[in-house]
This record gives sequence, structure tokens and C-alpha cells, in this order.
Amino acid sequence: MLYNHVALIGLGLISSSIAHSIRRKDKDIKITGTSRSIATRRKAAELGICEVVENSVEAVKGADLIILCVPVGAMASVVQDFVSVLEPGVTITDVGSVKVEVIASITPLLPPEVEFIPGHPLAGTENSGPEAGFATLFDNRWCLLTPLKNCSLESLKRLRLFWEALGAKVDLMDAEHHDLVLAVTSHVPHLIAYTMVGVADDLANITKSEVINYSAAGFRDFTRIAASDPTMWRDVFLKNKEASLEILGRFTEELTVLQRAVRRGDGDLLFEYFTRTRDVRRKILEAGQDTNEPNFGREKK
Ligand code: NAP
Repeated sequence: MLYNHVALIGLGLISSSIAHSIRRKDKDIKITGTSRSIATRRKAAELGICEVVENSVEAVKGADLIILCVPVGAMASVVQDFVSVLEPGVTITDVGSVKVEVIASITPLLPPEVEFIPGHPLAGTENSGPEAGFATLFDNRWCLLTPLKNCSLESLKRLRLFWEALGAKVDLMDAEHHDLVLAVTSHVPHLIAYTMVGVADDLANITKSEVINYSAAGFRDFTRIAASDPTMWRDVFLKNKEASLEILGRFTEELTVLQRAVRRGDGDLLFEYFTRTRDVRRKILEAGQDTNEPNFGREKK
């Protein structure tokens, strides 16, 4: 598996999926992990996710790969906890959904003989915690690495091969570009889903009955996204502020165009717009990034 000992800092959806996925490939590799709460550590130990230890100092002892799997706002503080015991030659990576701010907060803390290679697997669900993880989460999904300028090519290659061994496809990207792309494909869509569900909830007189009982596919998909972990998503918007605001500005302009078309009864504009967006869906299917099954393949037959 390219590394002898992987340390997981945080034991949630992403780290437990990493552990399951490593085990699928290599039963013998040493995986240690820790989480800030006793409850999560206990749950992860019960599930046999990895060798669960009490704190990060113990978890990173002897590790040659450390993966930070906590919300982006907590990355720097978890690094501070174990930075004094880091051994030369170790690689640290993270799975955070925002890159520029995470890099800015972590790099000043690290000694020069430690390699930090930021990463972000574009795979997840709305569920969280160690019980939410599964071995196939990264299969055929992209993992973006945003290496720093002085990154060793050998360490980068090793990490790339590691993610490929977990089933992912790996691409390299500049951190600023990553944050803009993710604002479009993930962050702002989440904010829109949170807003739509919030609007429905504000209409309290219908929420209690019709919205819940008669929720149609469109609204149900919004509620699934809007059920995502509040801590993780709060941190995403606090840490990817500029790019999120840039994309939100464009979104608002487009919404005004569609609003005017609805008011004016401009069927041609609406039809052309919806035809163009349908094509985006087709391209995602062609790229193998979603399934064409009804209800996005989520309903078990
Ligand atoms: P998760 O299932 O909610 O697990 C979060 C982990 O972080 C838990 O171990 C939790 O500890 C710990 N944690 C939370 N707040 C903390 C704090 N203030 N200080 C120290 N530890 C803290 O989260 P996840 O979905 O695996 O997400 C982890 C990272 O992956 C995030 O950076 C997220 O941006 C990124 N990511 C998520 C997805 C997704 O779809 N979920 C996809 C790609 C990347 P306790 O449980 O002990 O409190």
C-alpha cells in the first residue's frame, strides 16, 4: 500500500472510508486513528475501523502517512497537538473541502523536513461519523491534490499512487483554482439547498404537513443535501469566503434572468436554458460521475 503505517486524525465518514478502502487492498497495513470525543473513538473501535488510540500524539507515532480528516476550521489546531513529535520524512495530507486557507493555516506550523501535500477526495455523502464510512466511497471518484511549490516529486507520486490504490482518479490543481471550482460544483449548490429547505421551513403552516408528506423529488434532493453536517459546512463557507461570494454573485444574476423570464412568460428562454442544463447532466453521466438510475440510484430495489 506504499506506506507502512497510516495515521488518521478524525474518525468520521471520510477517514473511516479510507480505512475500509485500505483494508480492502491490504489487510496487514498498520492504521491508527483518533478522534476528539470518547464517543466517536468508542464507536470507531467497536466497528473495528482501525487501532483507535486516545490522542493524536499516540496516533502519529511511527506513521509515514498522516491524514487530517477533521472540519477545515479545525485542521490547524489538530496539527498543533502533534507537531512536536513529528519524525523527519513523514508525509502529511488532508481531505479538507477548502485548500487555500487550510494551506495557509498549516504550513507555518510544520518543520521543513515534513512534507505537506494538501488533498481533497471529491467523494462523500450527507452522513457523518465512523459508522457512515464504506470501502467503495472513492471508487472512480476524483481526488484533487494541490501540492505546494517545493513538494518532492517522489512524495507526490507516492501519495498519488495511494489514492489510486483506494480506487480514486487523481488530478493536480492549483489551490486557488480548486477553491473556485469547488465553489461552483459543491459549496454554492449546498448553500442553495440549505436556503430552499430553510424557505420551506419558514412557511411553517405548510411545512408540518404538505412539505413533508408530499415532498417531490426536487425538494427531497435538496433536503438530502441540506442534511449535511452543519460543522463541516459552516467551516467551508468561513474558509472559502471569496470564491463562494464570487459564484453566489453569478448565481444571483442568473436567477434574476430566469425570474424575469417567468414573469414575462418567456417560454423560449426557459426552454433553451433547461435544454442547456440537461446537457450538463448528460455529460456528468458520460464521465461516469453519477448513475442514470431513477432517483439517482439511491433507492434500493
Ligand atoms: P465527520 O464524519 O463529521 O467527522 C468529523 C471528524 O472530525 C470527527 O472525528 C470529529 O470528532 C472531528 N472533529 C469535528 N470537529 C472537530 C474539532 N473542532 N477539533 C477536532 N476534531 C474535530 O466529517 P467528514 O465528512 O469525514 O469530513 C472530514 C473532512 O473531510 C472535512 O474537512 C470535510 O471538509 C472533508 N470532506 C468531506 C466530504 C463529505 O461529503 N462529508 C467530502 C470530501 C471531503 P468527534 O466526532 O470526536 O467530535
